[in-house]
Amino acid sequence: MTEQLEPMPTDWRRALAVVAHPDDLEYGCAAAVAGWTDGGRDITYLLATRGEAGIDTLEPEKCAPLREQEQRASAAAVGVSRVEFLDHRDGVIEYGIALRRDIAAAVRRHRPELVITLNHRDTWGGVAWNTPDHRAVGRAVLDAAADAGNRWIFPELAEQGLAPWDGVRWVAVAGSSTPTHAVDATAGLERSVRSLLAHRTYIEALTDEDPEAYCRTFLTGNAQASAERFGGRPAVTFELFAR
Ligand SMILES: [Zn+2]
Repeated sequence: MTEQLEPMPTDWRRALAVVAHPDDLEYGCAAAVAGWTDGGRDITYLLATRGEAGIDTLEPEKCAPLREQEQRASAAAVGVSRVEFLDHRDGVIEYGIALRRDIAAAVRRHRPELVITLNHRDTWGGVAWNTPDHRAVGRAVLDAAADAGNRWIFPELAEQGLAPWDGVRWVAVAGSSTPTHAVDATAGLERSVRSLLAHRTYIEALTDEDPEAYCRTFLTGNAQASAERFGGRPAVTFELFAR
């Protein structure tokens, strides 16, 4: 029998999801988010950029406000009303102190027990190379979850009134090719399709397919592909790091 994934922890109230671009959370993770918000959990989205370099035919100044608007709509589709942007530059996010500090500040502000991010590794598994933005943000999130709890790292944050928060218990990495945990996607799957579909401008530029068919095929296919490792249930998978 194929090795089974563990169910994600459920003993938490607040999560902070930190990713590089509008749409990063919608390519799978949003089905899990919908289930969590149904259960009354409080989830905040934090985007490192506004995805302004994501559409070839649209200049960044015009693209940024549009993608911000689409991201807010896609968050709302799965019950998330708090969406924040760090305004790092799309495509050239630098892993480093500035990014770690910005994320640590958000962790201190929102005090999550669970932090979620997207694949920080070099590839998606196999030969599909990951993007530098995903790698930079994913790694900075894993680091900043700990930075947030140490009063001597970024003391300037305490001066701004952001007290250390050492309560992050897990960082869950979505889109990992070596997942350890999963969430049943059944309840949230249809809303996750709506959520991805909210990135309409982006998706219309990406594919000639009917946008709704594209979103449904992608998300249903991914959730079904994970089912054999989760007792036959369609699933969103995560690689879970505990602190
Ligand atoms: Zn991305």
